[in-house]
Amino acid sequence: MTEGTINKKVRVRFAPSPTGGLHLGGVRTVLFNYLFAKQQGGDFIVRIEDTDQTRFVEGAEDYIFDTLKWCGLTPDESPLHGGPFAPYRQSERKPMYKEFADKLVSEGKAYYAFDTAEELDAKRKEINNFQYSHATRGLMKNSLTLSEAEVAELLANNTPYVIRILLPDEEEVKFTDLIRGEVTFNTKEVDDKVLLKADGMPTYHLAVVVDDYKMQITHAFRGEEWLPSAPVHILLWKYLFGLENMPQWAHLPLILKPDGNGKLSKRDGDRLGFPTFSLDWIDPKTKEVTIGFRERGFLPEAFVNMLAALGWNDGSGQELFSLEELIAKFSIDRVHKGGAKFDYEKAKWYNQEWIKKLPVASYKEQVAGLLAKKGIVANDNLEQVLELVRERCVLLNDFVEQAGFFFKPSATPDIAAIQPKWDEKKNMFFIELIRAYELSTLWEASDLEIEFKELVAAHQLKPGELMLPFRIMLVGGKFGPGVFEIAAILGKEETLSRIKHVLSLF
Ligand code: GLU
Repeated sequence: MTEGTINKKVRVRFAPSPTGGLHLGGVRTVLFNYLFAKQQGGDFIVRIEDTDQTRFVEGAEDYIFDTLKWCGLTPDESPLHGGPFAPYRQSERKPMYKEFADKLVSEGKAYYAFDTAEELDAKRKEINNFQYSHATRGLMKNSLTLSEAEVAELLANNTPYVIRILLPDEEEVKFTDLIRGEVTFNTKEVDDKVLLKADGMPTYHLAVVVDDYKMQITHAFRGEEWLPSAPVHILLWKYLFGLENMPQWAHLPLILKPDGNGKLSKRDGDRLGFPTFSLDWIDPKTKEVTIGFRERGFLPEAFVNMLAALGWNDGSGQELFSLEELIAKFSIDRVHKGGAKFDYEKAKWYNQEWIKKLPVASYKEQVAGLLAKKGIVANDNLEQVLELVRERCVLLNDFVEQAGFFFKPSATPDIAAIQPKWDEKKNMFFIELIRAYELSTLWEASDLEIEFKELVAAHQLKPGELMLPFRIMLVGGKFGPGVFEIAAILGKEETLSRIKHVLSLF
């Protein structure tokens, strides 16, 4: 642990803006924050950063909490869970920020800017790649270029203004990132970000610093896309609070497209046919549905495990980790700097492994729900069936095909697969088999197999010729586990009824 944090309780935050469905990169950010906090016996805080009302999307906050619940990443403090630093929604904290912006102005670290939207547009047209910065602020209408009397008059007349940070023209800003090591910026590359908007709402930059301070955040893990904002945040920390209590920053590597060419986007998933969101997301305006990992048939254990592996490993070659193991083994030192390529095949592999690893009882209800959606009502045999077929399932939805026929016979058994080689001898065999099975008092798979094979021998047939017809009768298609195991679970009555039904179709 780094010096200065030894006696301090670890407090991390996930600070999403509720602007839509949660991309897997966002969930990985939550996960790394969570793992670190829990390992250190610390607190995991969720703060909703909704200061930009124009980007607010209905339902997005609920979606975030539904995702956390599904993944088992329970916040210690949040708008939903409460906590000693409430409120946890920035829009409800609005009155808290202005004093900090005012303080910066009075100390000459920020200034009023009165430029109208039209004036800014005109400047953008006039100057290529216009940035409001040391190079241009002298051309604009602000408290640096206007006289004190002019500023006082504009303020007295309630002229709309924003407050911008006054960045040093040329100064190196350094900090130590927990993943990247020392990072240096020169302020000449950075623009004078708006801190307080005309409506009195803070921007993200001011709010994030004030809230991390007020909420006593010790570590902030966030996506790499926030790295360019870091110098502004560091300077705000320096100007407002001194650097002493500043959280330690870690900028997590990007999740890349499968070919490694750039950041993975929702559009890549749509194009390549895999989910990038945690849960189904329905855009409230367009009603467009974006498929989620959950609805695609992923187990939360697999989703979390797969996310942890995007940029982290424990160095031992182990690939399957439960959340508890991740908490025990996670270390920020082993998070890679480089982007992590997303591999959907690998994601499915994790799911397959977790389907095999978990007790079937833990996903039985979900499978029953998927079956019910297809009009299939599972019975008490469900757990036994799941045990038998889970080896064959990669996604939970695969259980519909692999387990469904146990509870509902196929409406369209694949007769075409056996018709060409069907003959009277086979017909007679199955009629005899019905009789033999009817008299059976034992109904274990091994008993059924012995009887079947004895009868095959008595009819001077080969077992190989009869197994496929038997499978088509019980399953409906050329798939599934061993036929005798299937017959054993189906029970006598159902097995016989399925044989009779298919015989009647010839
Ligand atoms: N509100 C920012 C977001 O939407 C948070 C960035 C940060 O963690 O500082 O991702």
